[in-house]
Amino acid sequence: MIVGVLGLQGDFREHLQALERMGVERRDVRTPEALQEVDALIIPGGESTTLSKLMNMYGLTPVLQKQARKGFPVYGTCAGAILIAKEVEDGKPQGLGLMDITVARNAYGRQLDSFETDLNIKTIGKFHGIFIRAPKITRCGSGTEILAEQDGDPVLVRQGAMLAGTFHPELTHDSRVHEYFLRMIG
Ligand code: GLN
Repeated sequence: MIVGVLGLQGDFREHLQALERMGVERRDVRTPEALQEVDALIIPGGESTTLSKLMNMYGLTPVLQKQARKGFPVYGTCAGAILIAKEVEDGKPQGLGLMDITVARNAYGRQLDSFETDLNIKTIGKFHGIFIRAPKITRCGSGTEILAEQDGDPVLVRQGAMLAGTFHPELTHDSRVHEYFLRMIG
C-alpha cells in the first residue's frame, strides 16, 4: 500500500515523516497523475482556503471527489478536515464535500488559537492532541462515528474509509492515529 500526502501547502512534510517512521511507502501528491498512484490520501493541516485554491489550480478537486465517492480512503487533519467536510459554516472555502460533517473554522477563538490537551480516542486510548487554530466539527451526519471528543465537541470522526481530525498527530511522535487510519482501510 502506498499512502499519498497532499503536498501543495501546510505541514505535509510532518505527515510524510510520520509515515516514514512507520515504515510505510509514501508519496507527495501534487497532481492528478500522482493521485492515481496512491491507495489513500492524507490532507494535511495548513490554510484551507489556500489549499482549496491550489487543489483547484492543479486539477485535483474533481479527480479526488470522483475517487473518494468510489471509496478511496482520505484522512483530513485540521485544514484537511475542513476540506473534506460537506459544509463549512461561513461557506468558505468551498470544500470537497466528501464527509457528512459541518465544520466551523477557527472556532476556538483568538486567545485559544492553539492548545494541547489529552484526548481519549476510541480503541486507541489516551492521545496527546495538538490543536492549532483548529476548526470545530459542529454537525456529524448519521453515517459517521465519533471517535474522540474534547469538551463535548467531536475532534476525530470516521465515515466509511474517511477520517477527519481537528488535531495534529503528525506533530507528535505517536503514530497510533495514522496506524488507525491504515488499519481502517485494510
Ligand atoms: N485555521 C486553518 C484554516 O481555517 C486551519 C489550521 C490548521 O490546519 N492547523 O484553514
